[in-house]
Amino acid sequence: MAESELRKKLMYRPKNGYDTISAEEREAMDRYCEAYKIFLDMSKTEREAVATAVYLAETHDFHAWQPGEKLNPGDKIYYVNREKAIFLAVIGTESLANGAVIAAAHTDAPRLDIKPTPLYEESEMAYLKTHHYGGIRKYHWVTTPLVLHGVVMLSDGSKITVKIGDAPEDPQFVINDLLPHLGLEQGKKPLNTAIPSDSLNILVGGRPLKDDDGSERIKLEVLRLLNERYGIVEENLISAELQAVPAANARDIGFDCSFIGAYGHDDRVCAYAELAAILETETPRRTAVCVFADKEEIGSDGVSGMQSHAFEYFMKDLCKSQGVCMETCFANSFCLSADVTAAFDPNFPDVYDRHTAARCNYGVGLCKYTGHAGKAGASDASAEVVGYLCRLLNENGVRWQMTELGKADVGGGGTVAKYMANRNIDTIDAGVPVLSMHAPFETVAKLDCYMTYRCVKVLFEN
Ligand code: MN
Ligand code: MN
Repeated sequence: MAESELRKKLMYRPKNGYDTISAEEREAMDRYCEAYKIFLDMSKTEREAVATAVYLAETHDFHAWQPGEKLNPGDKIYYVNREKAIFLAVIGTESLANGAVIAAAHTDAPRLDIKPTPLYEESEMAYLKTHHYGGIRKYHWVTTPLVLHGVVMLSDGSKITVKIGDAPEDPQFVINDLLPHLGLEQGKKPLNTAIPSDSLNILVGGRPLKDDDGSERIKLEVLRLLNERYGIVEENLISAELQAVPAANARDIGFDCSFIGAYGHDDRVCAYAELAAILETETPRRTAVCVFADKEEIGSDGVSGMQSHAFEYFMKDLCKSQGVCMETCFANSFCLSADVTAAFDPNFPDVYDRHTAARCNYGVGLCKYTGHAGKAGASDASAEVVGYLCRLLNENGVRWQMTELGKADVGGGGTVAKYMANRNIDTIDAGVPVLSMHAPFETVAKLDCYMTYRCVKVLFEN
C-alpha cells in the first residue's frame, strides 16, 4: 500500500471543512446562517428565545401540548415551561419504549440582571444597580452599549414586556469606566478585580424633574418617564426581571464573512441548530425531542433549569399516552447535550492543548467529557456512545472533530450533559467552537454552526 493510502487509512486527521464541502453545501450553510442571525437578534434573553421558538414552531405545524393528549406518529407539539424553557417533540413511529432522541441546549446567557431595588441617584445622575448572571469578565461590560429587556409585574397583577434600546429612536444604556488619565492604580490591578461587581451600575438619567425643589430630582424624572411609558412605579421594579444585554446585533465578521459575531452564541447557536432540525423533522422512527433549558450558566438549578422535573412532567405524559414507563424510555434514549466549546485562539495558545483543542471551521466539536481538575463534574460519555455518534456523522458526511475545553490544569466548564445522564439517558456533549466565549460579543465560524445543525438533523433522522 502506498504511503499516502496508508496515511488515509490509519490516521485520524480532521480537515478544514472548506476543503471538503461542495458549492451546494456552502449555499445551504449561508442560508442557514442568515436565518440564525435573525433568530439571534430576536432572542437576546431566554424568554425571547422561547417566544421566537414558539413563533417558528407554530408556523411549522407544531401545537401547544395539553397534558393527557392522545398523540400519533408525526404529531408535532411543544410545551413552554414558565416562558423560560421549551420542549418540542415530533412523535415517532416506534414506541417510546425504544427511547427518544433528545437534543438539549440552553438559551440563558451571561448578562447583567437588574437588582430588585435598583434605582438610585448619585451626584445628580441616576443609576440602576446590577447583579451579574453567569461567568462574566467584568471589564467587558463597561463602555459597552446596553439595552434593557425583560418583564415587569405591575401592582394590578398585569405583566408588561420591556424592550428598550432596539428601535432606532430608543435610548441605550452604558456603564462608564475610568479614564486612562486617572486609571494608573486601577491599571495595576488583576483583570478580575479591577472592575468590582458593585461598580457595574448603569447610567440611566441626568435630567432633573423641572420645578421640583425636593431631593432625588433626577431619579424622580426617570420614574416619571417609566410611568409615562409603562405605567411602572418604583415598587414594581421589585417584581421585575430586567436584563441588561449588549445592544449589538449579529454581524458577519472578516473580509470573507466566514464568522458571525454576536451576543449569546453560547448557547443559542446550538439551540437554533436543534430548533432548525426539529422544525424540518417529519415522522421520525424514534420520537425527536428538542430542549431549550434555562439557568445552565448558574448550575441548571431552579424550576426552569435542566434539573427541574418539568422535563419529567412532559416526558412522563408522552410515555403514558403510549402505555410506556418513562424510566424504560429514558434507559433507551439518546441525548445530544448541544453546547458550545472553546475554539483554539492563536492569541492565547498557552491555555489550550493543541492536540485536542477545537478548531474553527473543522465542524461540530464532540466532547466526551467536560468538567475540571480530573473530569470533576463531567458526564463522561462511554466509548459505545462516542462510537455511535462518530459512525453516524461519518456515514452522513457531517464534519466533526473531537475536542477538549482547554488544558487539564487551566480551568474547565460544564453543560446540561450530566443532568441528562443522571436520568439514565446515554448522553454526549457536542457543539460549536466559540472564540471569546461569555464576552458581550462572541465569535463562531459559519461552517461549524451549519455542521452542528446537520449533526442534530442526522440524529433525529436515524
Ligand atoms: Mn453553554
Ligand atoms: Mn456558558
